[in-house]
Amino acid sequence: MSTESTVSQKLDALMALQKIDSQIDELLKIRGDLPEEVRDLEDELAGYETRIGKFKAEIEELNQEVVKGKAGMKDSEKLIKKYQEQQNNVRNNREFEAISKEIESQELDIQLFEKKNRETLFRVEKKNIEISDIESRMLGRKGDLEAKKAELDSIVSESTEEEKKLRVGRETAEAKIEERLMYSYNRIRQNSINGLAVVKVRRGACGGCFNQVPPQRQADIREKKKIIVCEHCGRVLADVEVIEELVAPTKTKA
Ligand SMILES: [Zn+2]
Repeated sequence: MSTESTVSQKLDALMALQKIDSQIDELLKIRGDLPEEVRDLEDELAGYETRIGKFKAEIEELNQEVVKGKAGMKDSEKLIKKYQEQQNNVRNNREFEAISKEIESQELDIQLFEKKNRETLFRVEKKNIEISDIESRMLGRKGDLEAKKAELDSIVSESTEEEKKLRVGRETAEAKIEERLMYSYNRIRQNSINGLAVVKVRRGACGGCFNQVPPQRQADIREKKKIIVCEHCGRVLADVEVIEELVAPTKTKA
């Protein structure tokens, strides 16, 4: 006999792995949607952080515009002062008028700067309001997250030791199964709602999909000469469960 395991041993290994996986599934089921809800809330909060960051950068830019506007106003004021001094030394009316035009133009510029700055500051204000809206929403969400996390932590801590043991057991069980078989096992499990890839024949039916397994096939399964899968669902049929032929005790006369 070669060192390769027999079909019977392979089936035993698969059954052992299935048993562990079903227990892990059960543990994870208790955690329910909590892990996902926690992740969703974390994503949502991260999204808010990003938006706030974007708004703050925009506010920074707008404030720079205001600073530029103020500098522009100062320049115009300086020019006006300079022109007014020049007006004191004009030689004629025409020169005076020309300088007056310059002054008017600068005054107009100042008004434009003021208008633009008012608008910019209004936009800054709006963005600040949006930020505080988001921040108050975040506060609520953070509360939700803390609660969900605490709930999840308590569930996880209750089952964490058990899960660790199961995971170690799973590794040991997996090590006994050849890669190709492991691949099929994982594939079947992924496609199965109940996470069952290896089942027994029960009352003449596949334990996974409950379709009938023909008697000859059942006999082949019992022999364990090769790995047989359910022709309906593809699950590995590891064994045929022996059901004790219980004869119900009848109260009526024998
Ligand atoms: Zn089946």
